Amino acid sequence: MLDFKNNIRVIPDFPQAGISFKDITTLLKDGAAYRAAIDELKALVAHLEIDVIAGPEARGFVVGAPLAYALGVGFVPIRKSGKLPYETIEVGYDLEYGKDTLAMHTDAIKPGQKVLIADDLLATGGTIATSVNLVEQLGGQVVGAAFLIELTALSGRDKLTDIEVVTLLTYE
Ligand code: IMP
Repeated sequence: MLDFKNNIRVIPDFPQAGISFKDITTLLKDGAAYRAAIDELKALVAHLEIDVIAGPEARGFVVGAPLAYALGVGFVPIRKSGKLPYETIEVGYDLEYGKDTLAMHTDAIKPGQKVLIADDLLATGGTIATSVNLVEQLGGQVVGAAFLIELTALSGRDKLTDIEVVTLLTYE
């Protein structure tokens, strides 16, 4: 397996002092590494039954959409408030740095569908817990969550005890 850490650029004090930002753009621009990362995530979720993948904007799209394509399932976007054109449901949440609201179309998920949530990075777990909340409000069953990176010191996994969490890389 590739050591994907070589493809991640770590930026100290971004976007504010004390945050060690994991920049995945250096992975994404390397075609072989990007494909290998998505293929590796595909292998890690191969045992799950998945009808559709949901990913929060914006980096959840660059992980979730190619993974959906590779698995041959649909992709539904989870967006910031005010971006989706049809009827939505919304949930507010706290970020590692700040606050936000996420939204989904009310018809994005059919009741009973098995949903994998995908994002670039698991930090405090607030974004994914909110995504799980939205999917469940629509009647979906979240079967797992897939990330490129997990920041283990922030214990985001503890907010996701009922679902399978897969990650390619971990940082303290
Ligand atoms: P959480 O909600 O605290 O788990 O934060 C995860 C969300 O914040 C993800 O959608 C990430 O895109 C973003 N995020 C937090 N820290 C980083 C980072 O170091 N690099 C890239 N994205 C980050």
